[in-house]
Amino acid sequence: KPVQAFVRVKPTAQFAQDMIKFGADDKSIDIHIPKDARGGIVNNSYTDWSFRMDGLLHNTSQDQVYETVAKDLVAEALRGYNGTIMCYGQTGAGKTYTMTGATSEYKHRGIIPRAIQQVFKAARESLNLFISVRISYLEIYNEALFDLLGPGLGRGPRDAALAVMDSPRGVYVRGLSIHPVKHEEEALNLLFEAGETNRVIAEHALNKNSSRSHCIFTIYIEGRSRTDTNLKGIKSKITLIDLAGSERLSKITSAGRLQKENSYINRSLAFLEQIILALADPRRGHIPFRQSKLTHVLKDSLGGNCNTVLVTNICGEAAHVEETLSSLRFATRMRWVTAEPVPSVTFDREVSVKVLEEEINLLKRELAMRDMFANRSFRTYSPLTGAQRAAIKSQIHKYLRGAIEEIDIVNIRQIQEVFKQFKVIVSQQQEDVEAKLRSKYVLIDKGELNAGAGPEWFLPFCFQGGVGALDDGLVQEVEKLQKEALEPGPSSSSPVPGEKKEDKSDEHVKKEKLVSPSLEGDLEGSAPPETQEESPTKDVDEEEGASEQDRTDSEKELSTSSSGEESQQPSFPPSKAEAFELFKQEAGSEISRIFRENKSILLARKRSSSSVARRINDIKREMEGVQETLEGKKRKRWQEGEYADEKGQVIIDEKEFSLILKLKELKEEHRAGYAELQDLKAEIQYCQQLVDKCRKRLISEFEIWYNESFLIPEDVGEALRPGGSIRPGMIPVHRVMCLDEDEQDRFERMQETNLPECPESTPFYRAKMKTEQQQTFDRTMSSLQKMRRKPGIVTAAGKNKPLSFLHI
Ligand code: ADP
Ligand code: MG
Repeated sequence: KPVQAFVRVKPTAQFAQDMIKFGADDKSIDIHIPKDARGGIVNNSYTDWSFRMDGLLHNTSQDQVYETVAKDLVAEALRGYNGTIMCYGQTGAGKTYTMTGATSEYKHRGIIPRAIQQVFKAARESLNLFISVRISYLEIYNEALFDLLGPGLGRGPRDAALAVMDSPRGVYVRGLSIHPVKHEEEALNLLFEAGETNRVIAEHALNKNSSRSHCIFTIYIEGRSRTDTNLKGIKSKITLIDLAGSERLSKITSAGRLQKENSYINRSLAFLEQIILALADPRRGHIPFRQSKLTHVLKDSLGGNCNTVLVTNICGEAAHVEETLSSLRFATRMRWVTAEPVPSVTFDREVSVKVLEEEINLLKRELAMRDMFANRSFRTYSPLTGAQRAAIKSQIHKYLRGAIEEIDIVNIRQIQEVFKQFKVIVSQQQEDVEAKLRSKYVLIDKGELNAGAGPEWFLPFCFQGGVGALDDGLVQEVEKLQKEALEPGPSSSSPVPGEKKEDKSDEHVKKEKLVSPSLEGDLEGSAPPETQEESPTKDVDEEEGASEQDRTDSEKELSTSSSGEESQQPSFPPSKAEAFELFKQEAGSEISRIFRENKSILLARKRSSSSVARRINDIKREMEGVQETLEGKKRKRWQEGEYADEKGQVIIDEKEFSLILKLKELKEEHRAGYAELQDLKAEIQYCQQLVDKCRKRLISEFEIWYNESFLIPEDVGEALRPGGSIRPGMIPVHRVMCLDEDEQDRFERMQETNLPECPESTPFYRAKMKTEQQQTFDRTMSSLQKMRRKPGIVTAAGKNKPLSFLHI
């Protein structure tokens, strides 16, 4: 069953009719971009795209959207199937509107409140199941997890205790509060409490932050039977995700045009896209869910055994057509992912044990009856007794001695017992043999062997740092090398590390490849692939193979080029390239130093490895020369007739003898060099890992530092620090002080207009009012505190509306 993908178009007066066209079936959407609109740079062959979706939501009310997108999924959840709905799209395209909706009006509420309503309605109407509902609300911002329903909401310091955990029953977030809710209003209360704060931001300057976080609202449903006779229960969850804005980075090209780059502003979306590509691949192997918090949290909510729906929100204006295009691409990929929903049915344990026991008894009786009809003597199907086991044992011993020809098969249990007994005997014999051998010879365990000890040079393989510090991959690699080393001697075709493995059979290619540059290249290739970084930091180690001198040169180049750019476009915040230089000198100096150090060690190892490889190569060539001469001599001897001494041994001349000695020496040398090369290769891998780790660290520290230094306003930054007064995505109180609508008035007005015709909306409005009152209260209290401190400022802020919010 494929994942369903819908597209919702945000209504606009400036809909780009000539660029975006909808199919008549409301399932396809065509994009046409005139060449010059793209600046004629990016792609000059495709200007038309066509996408197929499961449905287009164009001029569609919230109500219809829910019917199309969510209703069935929620109904299925009430039958035990997990369900996930995701909203994807650029900031401002209507994700939050679709997911949460506008709280101000009942008919504009989104999927979350409607799903809550549907679940509770079903719970009320369910005859045989007693349904309990719990909810949680998680926010992921910059790889940090926040509990939106957590205690001390919006006030406490960052909650460091949250962590994504794997368990046999699925992923969960440790420390995330999950709230049992008894009725709709209670659930909506919690939603609004968290949501209102978010919504405040959406209207404000900090929108940038709110659009960079993912919000995951989860409804956990558990149904137990009301009566004992009906045992089946259900357990499921509905995951509702409001993703961060999918907008791409934009860059000003040398021609001065604004151009979209292919990387997301929010990196976890890039990982999400990778996961989706991997899931869509029919040969899917390992799916790297743990790359980011978002994908990890969604591990069992994507394409596995749940119903998944994607709503892609797009804007219809011409200015947004690039983003629209990439959003539609994402949606199409999502449609390739398939899922096999299975209901998770739970059982009441005690009752089910009882029923199973009954069934077993019944089956036993059935078997006994069959035996009787088949004229077989009475057989038992219970576990074997001690006496029976002893009987089997003696039977086996007799069988092994040859005293009996066969062991009669009685039943499965007996067969299993026979095998078990055999296993005991075999392992006993193994021990006996070993004990006997030990008493005769001195056996040395592999690990105890000394590295220098003669021809066993290949057995233990160690280097400084110890094998314990390596990961499995490296250990395997070492083992592979050992195996290769075990293959025939140096003059044969044993491969030299550093060659491509596939070339093993191709003697010709190999000789070419032995020279050092290719060796280097291969070592480079063995490093894990670059993760997608933003371009300025990518240079971090582009010149890994270059000399120190080279690197400083290219660093200079980088800084001059970026400052050149700057002179055209003076800006704050500074460009990332510049900022990165600054960071390396200041806040990141230590990590940058360690990184450089590790890199130079790595470089040194690579260099010596390539020189060793070259040496081996030389030796090999020499060996081949000697061999050839020897062959020549031999051939000549053959032609001329051989001399032999009285014992019949062929006599050879001195020169040939010395050549043979030389060849032997060379072989030794080759072998030693080979071993050295292996050591070096292992070390290089280890160093490479260190360097990779360092690079990641350097870049992520830089990202954090850059955000905190330039992108987040200072006062907010202050409050954001651990122990500060707010979480990211919230606004300092004094900035939201003057929300000047009289909320009580508004509520009453709304109640008048909405309630009479729609009694179902009561919980919605009641929850909303409570939240608003709480907020008004909080605001008032903090403004009062402020007033006490700075009387002058408050009068200015509340001049025209003298504390009209004090009506609690
Ligand atoms: P996002 O969460 O994707 O950044 P929002 O949901 O906050 O975007 O939408 C931005 C603005 O557009 C909000 O004021 C919202 O009310 C409005 N909006 C979005 N979609 C619709 C729609 N389908 N109908 C009416 N208004 C919408
Ligand atoms: Mg939003």
